[in-house]
Amino acid sequence: MRVVVTGGGGFVGSHLCEALLRRGDTVHCLDNFCTGEPENVAHLRGDSRFRLVRADVTVPFDVPGPVDAVAHLASPASPPDYHRLAVETLAVGSRGTENALRLAQRHGARFLLTSTSEVYGDPEVHPQPEEYWGHVNPVGPRSVYDEAKRFAEALSMAYRRSHGVDVGIVRIFNTYGPRMRPHDGRVVSTFIRQALAGGPLTLFGDGSQTRSFCYVDDLVRGLVAMLDSERSGPVNLGNPSERTVRELAELVLRITGSPSRIAYRPLPVDDPTRRRPVINRAVEQLGWMPRVTLDEGLRRTVAWFAARSGPPLTRVPV
Ligand code: NAD
Repeated sequence: MRVVVTGGGGFVGSHLCEALLRRGDTVHCLDNFCTGEPENVAHLRGDSRFRLVRADVTVPFDVPGPVDAVAHLASPASPPDYHRLAVETLAVGSRGTENALRLAQRHGARFLLTSTSEVYGDPEVHPQPEEYWGHVNPVGPRSVYDEAKRFAEALSMAYRRSHGVDVGIVRIFNTYGPRMRPHDGRVVSTFIRQALAGGPLTLFGDGSQTRSFCYVDDLVRGLVAMLDSERSGPVNLGNPSERTVRELAELVLRITGSPSRIAYRPLPVDDPTRRRPVINRAVEQLGWMPRVTLDEGLRRTVAWFAARSGPPLTRVPV
């Protein structure tokens, strides 16, 4: 297949590009690197089936030759990023998504939208099935991301219904792994960075809020399965093993062997208190389920972070 991956220079996108190349696809990676890193795909640039184009997908774009699939991942995704890039986040979720949909329409290609569990907001239903419509504050600080993704879902379904585009939507729950940026503000990367540096692990609230953490290789298998299917979704992709954030902190401390302590801070506005996907649809429709345990995934992630840290941090027993 010839696949266009928007946001392919980001954390998840770079793993997706790798997986597609590994199975023989040709990949056009489009990224403006507002939150991604060229280094994430530097190792792919020698591959003749990989093409990297620096482009902002909020501006209409095309790629040379036929296209079989468009995987639309471009969007700031972590809270500090979408707070800093608030208007840009809404622009890429709306105009960027429409430009990517039009590309798919022109080429008769499959279109994959990477939506998010954030469309469920601070959920009143637990765990979250795809049928749940969500509980989102439309004017709160997180709304630029949540509402952009909700709009992107609506737009994608409108292109499917009105223009016959072969759209598939996945809702991704918290994903972690190598190539997360140490300062991206996500809880896993923050805890690992703090533990490796020996500083306090900042825990917001009392740590009883829950998340479900999916290792990036598992997620990418799900993205590829959805790309290959004809399902419209939405399909939740996430690990249903729910953990408190305090449990996560303790696990990171154990794996890193860090002497760090936990420092408690006030919970940010609209921070969801519970998150766990119902994944029956992914199991039934895509034959997908996560395989990597949190312990194993964290060990691999800590090893990656430790290898990139300075000398005092590389003594970490992973
Ligand atoms: P990321 O920030 O690492 O990657 C996003 C990429 O999109 C970056 O490389 C960025 O430079 C690029 N981008 C942003 N705006 C762009 C624009 N206008 N034009 C071109 N490129 C642009 O984030 P990620 O974690 O890899 O997330 C990838 C996708 O998955 C996002 O759409 C995100 O909403 C979704 N998602 C991720 C998670 C997660 O836990 N990682 C959870 C839910 C949803």
